[in-house]
Amino acid sequence: MPVRKSVLALGFGALAIGTAFAAPEIDPQGVDTSSSTTPAVADRALAIGKALLPAEKLVIDSSSIQGGVLLGQVQGDLSSLMLNGEPVKVADDGRFMVAFNRDAESSALVTAEFASGTRQNQLISIAKRKWVIQRVNLPRRKRTASASWLSRRTPELEAIAAARAMDTGSEGWRQEFTWPARGRISGMFGNQRIYAGTPGGYHTGIDIAAPTGTPIVAPADGVVTLAAAKPFSLEGNLLMLDHGMGLNSAFLHLSKIAVKEGDTVRKGQYIGNIGTTGSSTGPHLHWSMKWGAARLDPILLTGPMG
Ligand SMILES: [Zn+2]
Repeated sequence: MPVRKSVLALGFGALAIGTAFAAPEIDPQGVDTSSSTTPAVADRALAIGKALLPAEKLVIDSSSIQGGVLLGQVQGDLSSLMLNGEPVKVADDGRFMVAFNRDAESSALVTAEFASGTRQNQLISIAKRKWVIQRVNLPRRKRTASASWLSRRTPELEAIAAARAMDTGSEGWRQEFTWPARGRISGMFGNQRIYAGTPGGYHTGIDIAAPTGTPIVAPADGVVTLAAAKPFSLEGNLLMLDHGMGLNSAFLHLSKIAVKEGDTVRKGQYIGNIGTTGSSTGPHLHWSMKWGAARLDPILLTGPMG
């Protein structure tokens, strides 16, 4: 399978993002057709046939980007798969996902340890992004952590954390993602304001501005893990989907949520409508994605809106 390359022309200049959501393949003969393993091994396997195929194999691209995702595959009797020493889930067919936080270091190590005691490593270089930094010559406005604010906010944060911790077994993580709504991109992932020298939080998702009521669809298969019964103080009407393997989406500021917790949704299925509930200055969808603790850039899973 050819590796999908995408070039995103962003507002701040063209940024070439390769291998954003590449899925290397081990074909049924066990011959790795991706470019990330030693050509000599694949050639030899092709030339000699099945008898000498390597029984244990780790296949994943050797490069990614901050906020990006890689799909990989292992074959053989695996005892553990690690990303930088932390365990990574692997599906029954040997497929897995790793992803890299907005502020990920310049390299990461994937290690497959097999029951035979052998170990295979793949070093992944992670390209740095140039985030749009806006300097504001004003002190950062501080939200007062009053008792009444905390008593409202704490259960909201707990509900979000509980939703993110759910593993529903969804297979959406395997899919190429589609845009949940179309409109003007009014805020890029990762942008950050610096207030009189003090960095504020960065923008954790992508903003799609469109009129209130614009339908939102599931960007991939998922299971609804949170459908706010009443607007959250910042997120407004919040909807969250689990795509499996630790990958999840959050959709903020909705005018309407059209699904309920526990529902299984299919890619492209209507799930709600754009709004401006919660902390929002106009109708838009804020779509954020996480893989475990890593915050991801949704555009790296969808490709450009086109
Ligand atoms: Zn936003």
